[in-house]
Amino acid sequence: MTAIILLGPPGAGKGTVAEELARKGYGHVSTGELLREQIRQETPLGLAAKERLAHGKFVSDEIVVGMIRDLLEHAKAGQKFLFDGFPRTMVQAEEFDQLLQSLEGTLDEVILLECPDDVIVARLSGRRVCPVCGAVYHVEHNPPDTPGICNLDGSELKLRKDDAPETVKKRLRIYRERTAPLIDFYKNKGLIHAVDASLSIDQVRRAVIERLG
Ligand SMILES: [Zn+2]
Repeated sequence: MTAIILLGPPGAGKGTVAEELARKGYGHVSTGELLREQIRQETPLGLAAKERLAHGKFVSDEIVVGMIRDLLEHAKAGQKFLFDGFPRTMVQAEEFDQLLQSLEGTLDEVILLECPDDVIVARLSGRRVCPVCGAVYHVEHNPPDTPGICNLDGSELKLRKDDAPETVKKRLRIYRERTAPLIDFYKNKGLIHAVDASLSIDQVRRAVIERLG
C-alpha cells in the first residue's frame, strides 16, 4: 500500500486536486467523510467523536488516527491512497509514520499547495453558494448572470459562514499553528513537492497531474 498526502491551507484547492487524482486511481481519503461514516454507524470512534464535536472541541488525534488505522488495516495490497486533510497535527504525522511502518506501507510524496493568506481570503470570501441547488459561484472569477442570483433556479445566493473573511482568517491561524509544522517534518524526510496554489485551479490541477503522471 502506498500513500500520498495533500498538504496546504484551507482554500488552497486540496479538494479539487484530490477529486482529479481520484479519477487516476488514487483512493481519496477525506477524514471528514470517514468521520461522518463512523458517526452514522455509531462505532465507538464515531460516538467518541460526536461527543467531542457536541462540546465544540476538535476531534482528538487518537480518534483521527484510529479511523485511519481502521481504513488501512482493511486495505488491499498495492492500494493507493490520497490523504486530504490528514495528517493535520504533528502527533498525527508521527503516528501515521508508525502505522505505515507496521503495515509495510510507504509514503511516496507530500504535495504542498502553497498559497498566501490574502489570496485565500479573497478566494473564499468571494464564493457564493446557491442554498437550493448547491451551485457555487465567485463574485470575480465565476459570477452569475445577475449578481447575487443563481443562474439555474433564480434563488438568492449566500456567503457560507465558513467562507466569511473572519472565519477564513481564524481557519488560517489554526492551520499555521497546528498543521504548518508538518512542512518541515516532511521536508526533512525529502518528501515535499511544492505547487504554487495561487494560480487558477486548472493550472494547479495540471501541475499536480504532471507531477504524478
Ligand atoms: Zn441554484
